[in-house]
Amino acid sequence: MSTFELLDELEAGELSIRFEGEEPRALLEWALEEFSPRIAISTAFQVDGTVLLDMAYAIDPEIRVFSVDTGRLPAETHEFMATLRDRYPGLRLELLSPEEEHVARMVSRKGLDLFRESVPNRLLCCNVRKVQPLTKHLAGLDAWMTGLRRDQWATRTNIRKVEIDHDHGAIAKLNPLAEWTARETWEYVRERELPVHPLYAKGYTTIGCAPCTRPIRAGEAERAGRWWWESNAPKECGMHCSIEHGGFEHELHAILGSVGSTELHSSEGVGFADAEAKNREAHA
Ligand code: SF4
Repeated sequence: MSTFELLDELEAGELSIRFEGEEPRALLEWALEEFSPRIAISTAFQVDGTVLLDMAYAIDPEIRVFSVDTGRLPAETHEFMATLRDRYPGLRLELLSPEEEHVARMVSRKGLDLFRESVPNRLLCCNVRKVQPLTKHLAGLDAWMTGLRRDQWATRTNIRKVEIDHDHGAIAKLNPLAEWTARETWEYVRERELPVHPLYAKGYTTIGCAPCTRPIRAGEAERAGRWWWESNAPKECGMHCSIEHGGFEHELHAILGSVGSTELHSSEGVGFADAEAKNREAHA
């Protein structure tokens, strides 16, 4: 059982300042020392996640890694998991799954491809397939680490290296690559000859569910290939920030039934118009 006491906002802020300007490894070493074994890396198998995994595995091959298998992942993602297991012997990679009953209820009410019909439907699907299993998993951890970078999208420009995740029990959320650019990430991949998800070779710059991710076009931003048919909506699924005014909460409660749901909002949540305005500004 962990004897660790959760960080408070002040400590998280001080740690963020302490690790700003430091290489990602410095924060990783501190975090593994501080939180193991109740810490894990979250990855969707993008290059950022692989870089983080590579660094953490070099420090501690016992590092726990998890990903959400939404049931809509491309076959290439499953192939890539096998590649990672070859590269990192004994890798503790855990796949989280949504509750079958919730998915079945959602599909019977709204259809398999509900996300095409409206933004609230898309957020509902992301919540049932991603956010719910994530929240359940994080309840057993004191800290999680992500490969989020500030240059990925407007909603990520203000992330700190050490945050308190108020959407998930106020555990610590660590973003060791926050300062890195896409270029630095790819340089690390080349230097270390890391395996990369096969869809990058087909023009993808972000990896997600098969029906909701496409390759980007010349000049488009890194996350433009996510939910490309939407306008005036954040390119977030709710795993990394709660979504305000999603308009899907009523349906979600009906789908989850009496089991209850995760917190749906926070003061730091992303509103649609706000997110789109920020993004236009950032990529103008
Ligand atoms: S990315 Fe698409 S298929 Fe995957 S959970 Fe979200 S809406 Fe559903």
